Amino acid sequence: MKSSLLLPLFAFLCVLCGHSSAAAKPNILVIVADDLGYADVGFNGCKDIPTPNLDALAKQSLRCTSGYVSHPFCSPTRAGLLTGRYQQRFGHENNPAWLPESTVAGLPLSQTTLPQVLKTAGYATAAIGKWHLGAHPQFHPNRRGFDDYVGMLGGGHIYLPGAKGGAEYQIPIDRNGAKEELAGYLTEFLGREAAGYINQHKGKPWFLYLAFNAPHTPLQITDALAKRAAHIADETRRGYAGLVLGLDDAVGVVTKALKDSGQTENTLVFFFSDNGGPISVTHSDNTPLRGAKGAVYEGGMRVPFLVSWPGKLAAGKDYAQPVISLDVFPTAAALAGVPLAPSDGERARVRGTSNFDGVNLFPFLTGEKKGAPHDRLFWRTGGGAAHAVRQGDWKLVKLKDNPAELYNLASDIGESKNLAPEKPDLATQLQSALAAWDKELVAPIFESPGGGAQKKKRGPAKVEKK
Ligand code: CA
Repeated sequence: MKSSLLLPLFAFLCVLCGHSSAAAKPNILVIVADDLGYADVGFNGCKDIPTPNLDALAKQSLRCTSGYVSHPFCSPTRAGLLTGRYQQRFGHENNPAWLPESTVAGLPLSQTTLPQVLKTAGYATAAIGKWHLGAHPQFHPNRRGFDDYVGMLGGGHIYLPGAKGGAEYQIPIDRNGAKEELAGYLTEFLGREAAGYINQHKGKPWFLYLAFNAPHTPLQITDALAKRAAHIADETRRGYAGLVLGLDDAVGVVTKALKDSGQTENTLVFFFSDNGGPISVTHSDNTPLRGAKGAVYEGGMRVPFLVSWPGKLAAGKDYAQPVISLDVFPTAAALAGVPLAPSDGERARVRGTSNFDGVNLFPFLTGEKKGAPHDRLFWRTGGGAAHAVRQGDWKLVKLKDNPAELYNLASDIGESKNLAPEKPDLATQLQSALAAWDKELVAPIFESPGGGAQKKKRGPAKVEKK
């Protein structure tokens, strides 16, 4: 036999014996927080809520200081994350209502998901936690590429058995389609489930999407968490702090499982929030950013963002070029050995999946590739009610019929000084780029329940304890 024929045979045998090629592939762990403020983690300067476990993760990570999500609220960000595409390309621009009878309100079946692609590379795949990508059985995580699922299928959930909450927040925990009652504190439960998965899957490459509901409302915390947040005077922030402490504890359980099972060195970890803090609702803190969840100012979608792979990526350093949650898909696919073309990730195509917007970050994070992974990043909400684009240090914001606003984020991270009148040519250029991108998008295919995610400002939330 010619050697050109022997090589594929050898590769095939390696796959059969579960050896060699599989061993080189890292596990991929994506941890997503829900509504976590930019400044509410120690590694971004938080003083009143201790987050030692997240800070320890940051010490072994690159901290992406311009780390973004593709939407300033929940479900669309998750749709972008799992497809690697701007979610407005396929109409997923709002939160799906809890409608088990609707085959429309969910992540369209036309889209290929990251776990589907990783499965072709031999990965075990699991999702644990918040789904929020459709309530109809056709949208169930098990039908969208995840071998295993446990969590809450809606947009949120009560944290304690018997606690108050609307119908969507009261649905039973779903474990691979079977219902079970919530046993114990939700965040702790999810952390324990994730640790169990990590321990059980050692030796085979795995992908785990761990989507916490914390620190999203309701502000329901255990007495033990309340005690640890007792130094915070503001009642609403105290409840929120309890949720953040619970999140940090659970992240600690997960990172300990990685370490104790000897998988830290072989696991790529992403950590970020699905959107910025809703400051009026939870008294979360996005300092020094302007705006909050729902807005296309930085406070809406610039988030705490870490990437860790000890030994492969620098630890405890900052990476300043803009990156986005859409990059997780091509990065994971490339490290799993799924072919990407072209190799630099620019509008890459993976096995028939068209128009990737994410980029394989790995060569940029290692320093092998210089420069910015993206020429521009774009955002759109409300079917076109608000737009933003970032290009280098510049950011253009366009709200409804208002004149465009232009900010230099290098000198003005808080978007306080509109430079559009001084730089009309740049403002026009960025508006044209936005308009061209917008032409590639479609109208939202479903509406958010209650007409939108930008909730009205309301009084301080009441903290519930148990
Ligand atoms: Ca959220």
